Amino acid sequence: MSVDDRLGLLTYKNDHESHIKINNHDVCVNTCKDKPCTVLCPAAVYVWNGQAKQIKVQHENCIECGGCRMICPYHNIACDWPRGGFGVSYKYG
Ligand code: SF4
Ligand code: SF4
Repeated sequence: MSVDDRLGLLTYKNDHESHIKINNHDVCVNTCKDKPCTVLCPAAVYVWNGQAKQIKVQHENCIECGGCRMICPYHNIACDWPRGGFGVSYKYG
């Protein structure tokens, strides 16, 4: 089963507010050349928008793995967990 197929088994209850914030978009644009958040996240939450020159955060896809809390070389991501009752539900534990 592919990763996409597995992700398709999850259910989400989205909060209206994002539980993930980029602290300083200027750091993403001007300092962070490799933008590892855009390749690490298994749910493609971080997408580089070259036209708008910013990282778009699709928080509703987050599977709460915690990887982005570690990978940003500039500690520029504030990723907390969703409020109780919101976020991802795993069918198989
Ligand atoms: S890894 Fe951190 S600094 Fe780099 S683009 Fe992502 S959020 Fe911005
Ligand atoms: S916690 Fe995991 S799934 Fe959620 S945004 Fe960070 S890397 Fe992506």
